[in-house]
Order: sequence, then C-alpha cells, then structure tokens
Amino acid sequence: MRRIAWALPAVAALVCGCGAGSPAPQATGQPPSPAPSSHRSDPATPRASATPAPGNSAASATARPDAVSGGPELFRPTRTGILSGKVVAVDPGHNGGNFAAASVIGKLIWNGRETESCDTTGAETDGGYTEAQFNWNVALYLTAELRAEGATVALTRTSNTGVGPCVTERAAIGNEVHANAAISIHADGGPPGGRGFAILEPVADRTNDAIIGPSVILGADLRAAFASGTGEPFSSYDGTDGIQPRNDLAGINLSTVPKVFIECANMRNAADAALVTSPRWQATAARAIAAGLTAFLTRAGS
Ligand SMILES: [Zn+2]
Repeated sequence: MRRIAWALPAVAALVCGCGAGSPAPQATGQPPSPAPSSHRSDPATPRASATPAPGNSAASATARPDAVSGGPELFRPTRTGILSGKVVAVDPGHNGGNFAAASVIGKLIWNGRETESCDTTGAETDGGYTEAQFNWNVALYLTAELRAEGATVALTRTSNTGVGPCVTERAAIGNEVHANAAISIHADGGPPGGRGFAILEPVADRTNDAIIGPSVILGADLRAAFASGTGEPFSSYDGTDGIQPRNDLAGINLSTVPKVFIECANMRNAADAALVTSPRWQATAARAIAAGLTAFLTRAGS
C-alpha cells in the first residue's frame, strides 16, 4: 500500500482559515477546482475538466494504463467556520481512466473479508454519462462547500482522467489523515424501474469495529440532509428506508474513521438520469451532503 507523502502534523498546520482559495461553487455547470495545498511539490491540481456534459464519453479520458493514480490531495480551508479543525476525507468513486485500464483495476485486492477488484469503472446512464464523472463533479462541489465551512479536505483522487486508486488505498487515505468523517460518493446502476438514494453502512469485521456506531449516526445525519436537501426519495430497491449495511466493500471494511457510502441516485432510471447529468442537481446534492457531514461533525463530543 502506497504511503502518503505528507505527514499528519501538516494537516493541523493547514487548518488556519488562510488563503483566498476557490470561489464558492456555482450551479452554472462548472464545478469549482480546489487550489492545492502549497506544501505539495506535486500539485496535481484537480482540474475543472470535470465540466458536466451529458453524454460525455469515457473514451475521451486520458488513461495511464501502467499504474493507478489518484490521491491523496489535501485542501486547506478557504474560510474559518463551523468546521474549523475538522478533517473530511472525500472519495469520488471510480475514475475516468479506469475504462482503459482493465488489467490494472482488475487486480485482486483483499477487502477485509474477501478478494475484490482494485477498482471498477462504475455505472453510467443510458446516454453514456459516466458515474465517475458525476462522482467527481459532486466531490468538487462538496470540497468547496466543506472548505468554506473551515474544514480541511483530503481527496482520494485528483482528476477524472486517472486510474484508481485501489479501493484499499481509498480507505487508507481517510485512516491516515485521521479524518473526523469520510464519505465515498457514488451513483448506482440499478434496475431501470427503481430510483432513489441509499446510504451504505459498514458491518463490523474487527478492523472497523470502533467506527460502526459513529458511522450509523453519520448515515442517519446524511440520510436526513440528503432527503431534505434534494427531495430525492429513499431507494426503492436498495436497503430499507435509504439505509443498506454492506460487508463487501473495502472502503468501509477497512476504515478506521467514521465512514459511509452514498448512492446518490440510480443512473439507469430515466428520472434519476436527468438529475445526475444536471450540474445544478450535482451542486444541490453536494450541498446536501455537506449539510449531513456538518450535522455529524458538529454533534456534541464529535
Ligand atoms: Zn460506484
């Protein structure tokens, strides 16, 4: 497992509310591009190449088929706020370059219970808009929201044109920054007749035992905020009342910090597809996720 290049004390040093940073996200079709922290010699700035474009093609992604790529990238706060002093790990699921790197992402890893693939390509709408793109756009909006509230954000990948990283490393990034909360952003490829969102929660497996309780609370806060913020219904086919425990995902099997996944919508459903391809809805979804994380992070004792 690749080691993270920066030392943890640097995280605390960055929580200063300094720097002009990126503007607040605008629902104008252009997700914000977080400015990288100045301490990194390899900035790998997340680019605004994540321009929402319904019908975008994964084939346009520039893959690096020889190796996985991605985070961590650490972003300091743009303002002081209610989340000052908090660290949030944001994991945009999959990656745009995965489509051209089957041999790399197909490598088997140990997810804490069983073997699974290093990473996957993810879902897409019937029109070809990829989940990797949706996840990336939402992550950029979310990162800007959280930084503006005072949080430091660790991203698990730095563009939507790379490969991976493996799901094991996505979990490790949240662990190594000692995130106060971590979230993996996804959209589902479910049955076309089903729609809605679901929160995927960890199941105890020894490694993650200590985070089951707080992750359930995080999941409840996120469910409430996402439902009220987006109007999206609970999934009609995944979980119960929007909550689905999962023991087959490295991202939560191997997490030692409070963490959940969110399946924001069903990309194979026509009504949900219209939402996930909308920049305005992507920004709305990110704002709702930020509200859920903020509710959790500002609980007494958190
Ligand atoms: Zn996914």
